[in-house]
Amino acid sequence: MPDTSDKFSLRCLMCGHAMPDADINRCPVCGGTLEIVYELDRLRDEFEPQGRGMWRAFDLLPVRDRAHIVSLGEGDTPLLLSASLGPAWGLPDLHFKLEGMCPTGSYKDRIAAVSMSRAREVGKTAWAATSSGNAGASLSAYGVRAGLAGHLFVLEKASRAKIAQILMYGPRLRAVQGLGVDRDVEIQTFANVLDLCDRHNWMMMVTARKFSPFGMEGCKTIAYEICDQLGRAPDVVYVPVGGGGLLSSVWKGFQEWAALGLTDGLPRLVAVQGEGCAPVVDAYAAGRDVEPIAACHGTVSGLQLAAPPDGQLALRAVRESGGWAIAAPDPDTYRVHGELAAREGLFVEPAAAIVAAAVELDRAAGRLHGDETVVCLLTGIGFKVMDAVNRLTEAVEIPLIRADDILAL
Ligand SMILES: [Zn+2]
Repeated sequence: MPDTSDKFSLRCLMCGHAMPDADINRCPVCGGTLEIVYELDRLRDEFEPQGRGMWRAFDLLPVRDRAHIVSLGEGDTPLLLSASLGPAWGLPDLHFKLEGMCPTGSYKDRIAAVSMSRAREVGKTAWAATSSGNAGASLSAYGVRAGLAGHLFVLEKASRAKIAQILMYGPRLRAVQGLGVDRDVEIQTFANVLDLCDRHNWMMMVTARKFSPFGMEGCKTIAYEICDQLGRAPDVVYVPVGGGGLLSSVWKGFQEWAALGLTDGLPRLVAVQGEGCAPVVDAYAAGRDVEPIAACHGTVSGLQLAAPPDGQLALRAVRESGGWAIAAPDPDTYRVHGELAAREGLFVEPAAAIVAAAVELDRAAGRLHGDETVVCLLTGIGFKVMDAVNRLTEAVEIPLIRADDILAL
């Protein structure tokens, strides 16, 4: 086996402490968030994409032995040029990255794949996580594939459709009172799951860089794929922000791809939140750090985090990239959710539709120019919210006809 001891190292994003790889998930000096660091100078000459899907970028993922890879075929999701909404909004080069095409229906599969591979490589016996639903489904599916038992803590009001999918994979599931509504419960839950994992040598798999710096590396491959699919970096990328880890990881991906000379330039990143739950947007607008909000009143499943664990990292990425942050009202999100289906043929979840709603708002406000290449990260598939979709469509009356009426149409 080749010597992979120098494949990557760790560095604290808060205090800068650098260290070799170790089975830790936060900085041993200050408790800060860890960054995985690769030798980009060396890889600039040596990196050769191999195979298919997300693992084509194996050299840039924190797994040393390919034998430990846990995969259900994630990655290589389509990037589609908008057929209707883009032209209608005066944005002929608007694209949709369809993360709902991942095996369990959301981008979280990229995180789960790396998390479970890492767990196998460092010899963990089980995993534990909190989730609003999508990460829970991903981790549960990939946990089955990895042969690791799972303990999942979900929001008190998690979408029943998401729970149904999770139950099919069979992890130990518990709903936490007040999680997703109460900030203090949110902070206490994260801390307690972390303690539980430390005590039992389980892998903490909350999908945030603050808790899962290794697994979150999976997200950045979305940026690699966008550059490869476009043949260049886009001008602007819209990303939904719940915890903030996706946006921050995608920014790392664009930076790495540029550092390797695989794309020119970097996009501006736009953080999108719902109006009722927008701590990152509030911080951006006020020119300050991200502070938890007292309570989350947003209704978009997946984005209900009052104290986003990677919120500050997301804000930093927005600022570094020259982008901005915008809050979309929930009614706009649900209207565009319907338009994506009826006008683009894209059945996504509202947490994905929100970025398209933000694009429409920004274009109307003159923040986007008509000649810009814009990418919307559509994070999950519409089947994730079938309970809401059923409520929306149950009143629609379906005409009942006889077979011989068909020719009379
Ligand atoms: Zn530190």
